[in-house]
Amino acid sequence: MPPSRKRIRNRAVAIFGGTFDPVHYGHLRAAAEISERLKVSDFRLVPAGRPPHREGTWAEAFHRLAMLELAVASYPDLHVDAREVLRTGPSFMVDTLASVRTEVPDVPLLLCVGQDAANHLDRWDRWQRLLDLAHLVVMTRPRSEPAYPDQLAELLEQRRVGRARDLMDSPCGLVCHVEVTQLAISSTDIRNQLRHGWNPRFLLPATVLSYIRKHELYGAGPAGGG
Ligand code: ATP
Repeated sequence: MPPSRKRIRNRAVAIFGGTFDPVHYGHLRAAAEISERLKVSDFRLVPAGRPPHREGTWAEAFHRLAMLELAVASYPDLHVDAREVLRTGPSFMVDTLASVRTEVPDVPLLLCVGQDAANHLDRWDRWQRLLDLAHLVVMTRPRSEPAYPDQLAELLEQRRVGRARDLMDSPCGLVCHVEVTQLAISSTDIRNQLRHGWNPRFLLPATVLSYIRKHELYGAGPAGGG
């Protein structure tokens, strides 16, 4: 290929934030698909320390971190990044991205969010700055259609690219909607099942479920097994 047509492709770093309360296969399958399809060299799941958008979490940050570590233990391409849990004060994604940026100044940085979270992106602290630091990857999620407030819709439309591989040629600033396998799993549903004494097996890794039972999180009793 002549040099003028050769595209510079950097391996991307991905940031996938959430409360992960607890982590489940909806998170993990989406992470795996983005990591594989976008050829991400370093995919980081970032549990929120004190989530500013939620009234409260049900498990302490150190438990959510431990569950994530168990979930990705045998997958070397998926990592857990504890910086929000270790930071004091509220967790703002814009601060997280700025801090990751100092480590990887030039590579494409992908901020991955599910469609439900993307719809409310304009409630995030300094949300207009997010695209100065990263590309935005919006992942489909069951029961969540795109529904953006006007100002957000306008920005996303201006920055939108149709193909995920277009994100690989620059470090930040673009938006891509990516279809992932639709798994109608939520942490809320898992917590509800546990509270009712039901068994949410097959919705989350068995190692995570064992951890929940061992530590009696979400009202789950130790009995009942996997
Ligand atoms: P809760 O039910 O407690 O609100 P949740 O299941 O939505 O939790 P979060 O930790 O809040 O999980 O989500 C973190 C990120 O993962 C968000 O961007 C969310 O959109 C995305 N996500 C969660 N579940 C899925 C899923 N099943 N498919 C695709 N994305 C998902």
